[in-house]
Amino acid sequence: MFHHLLLTAVHATIQQGNVNIDNNRCKGCGLCVATCPAKTLQLSNNVNTRGYNFSQQLRPNRCIGCASCALICPDACITVFRTGLRKTI
Ligand code: SF4
Ligand code: SF4
Repeated sequence: MFHHLLLTAVHATIQQGNVNIDNNRCKGCGLCVATCPAKTLQLSNNVNTRGYNFSQQLRPNRCIGCASCALICPDACITVFRTGLRKTI
């Protein structure tokens, strides 16, 4: 008896996103930087109008739109956009 092996191609996808950060309301606490699972955020070397090193997104192509940063921000400075799905394989 012959056994037939059926190979199925599986296409995994991952959510993509990006964020808008209200620079001048940011107080540079760094919570969003610490919580981002994709490590896309970093505090700027520049300061905003209130003298704080504000958060910025350096690698937006790695953002997965998870919204962890927006949820943890104590001042609601971050808006998250989900921009689509990307194939990973
Ligand atoms: S939405 Fe998620 S992946 Fe994107 S910057 Fe915020 S915490 Fe990072
Ligand atoms: S959590 Fe909010 S206030 Fe703190 S650094 Fe990030 S954007 Fe700024």
